[in-house]
Amino acid sequence: MDVVLNVDGLVKKYEKFSLKEVSFRIPKGYIMGFIGRNGAGKTTVIKCIMDLIPFEAGSIQVFGLDSRQHSRGIRSRIGYVSEEQYFYENMTAGWNLDFFGGFYPNRDRDLAASLMKKFDIDPSKKVSELSKGMKVKLALALALAHRPELLILDEPTSGLDPVIRNELLELLMEVVQDENCSIFFSSHITSDIEKIADYVTFIEGGRIVISDEKDAILDRWRLFRVESRYGSAGLAGRLTGVKTGEFGFSGITDDPEGFVRELKSKYPDARYTMEKVSLDDLLVRIVKEEEA
Ligand code: ATP
Repeated sequence: MDVVLNVDGLVKKYEKFSLKEVSFRIPKGYIMGFIGRNGAGKTTVIKCIMDLIPFEAGSIQVFGLDSRQHSRGIRSRIGYVSEEQYFYENMTAGWNLDFFGGFYPNRDRDLAASLMKKFDIDPSKKVSELSKGMKVKLALALALAHRPELLILDEPTSGLDPVIRNELLELLMEVVQDENCSIFFSSHITSDIEKIADYVTFIEGGRIVISDEKDAILDRWRLFRVESRYGSAGLAGRLTGVKTGEFGFSGITDDPEGFVRELKSKYPDARYTMEKVSLDDLLVRIVKEEEA
């Protein structure tokens, strides 16, 4: 398997927060969704990948090259859209595209112009007159105009309305198909990631909790609701993110058969339901588990 990004045992320490041996990899040509709630550490991981901040331990390889030794060369092959878009607001969209595009030796002016058309951005408009969604699209056009092999997007859809978000997601899927570009896409909007990602990595409290193919995750994990007079006694440890109430208890597991076997042997008369989970359920339950 050709790996475009390999993060291995990454440790980064701030005074009150640290990344704890973060590891994951993105196979070439796929979209990896990076899910975590606010403050989970997504931007910190991305800044380490981009060599914008130093880290204490671990290693990062992009295109098989060490991220710190080859950061300039790597950056010229990456398209990066950060959380905030920094443009010259009083200049036009076209001027900004031309100016910032000039930092990339391999930028393609014709491609930039056609992306502007495709994204429906008027190049003669001042950036200050563009909506937030338009600014994100402009940033995306800029990131794509040098034909990157890897697109890194930090929360590109947050703060946008559902229609624009959907439009952006569709554009991203087209990019992967047409340009054979891999995408690393961070978000706390799990439905966006569920829609377009091939692989998903969950981060919580600076630690990777799950990193796998999206379909494998959704196939494996199940949500159980158990009616039980005995509470979750003896079974809570088999579930993640357990909630208890008058009805009994609920939680998720990636070993549904094992859980049912144990439930039936302990409480043969317990009634239960088993449901598929969404990435949203997973995030909420994982956060609950980590807080417990
Ligand atoms: P968000 O979705 O809110 O951007 P995130 O998952 O990207 O969240 P990070 O921005 O990586 O989270 O922040 C993770 C933690 O690191 C936070 O607690 C934040 O306060 C802390 N942090 C980030 N940058 C610094 C810094 N320069 N100095 C100290 N702490 C920092």
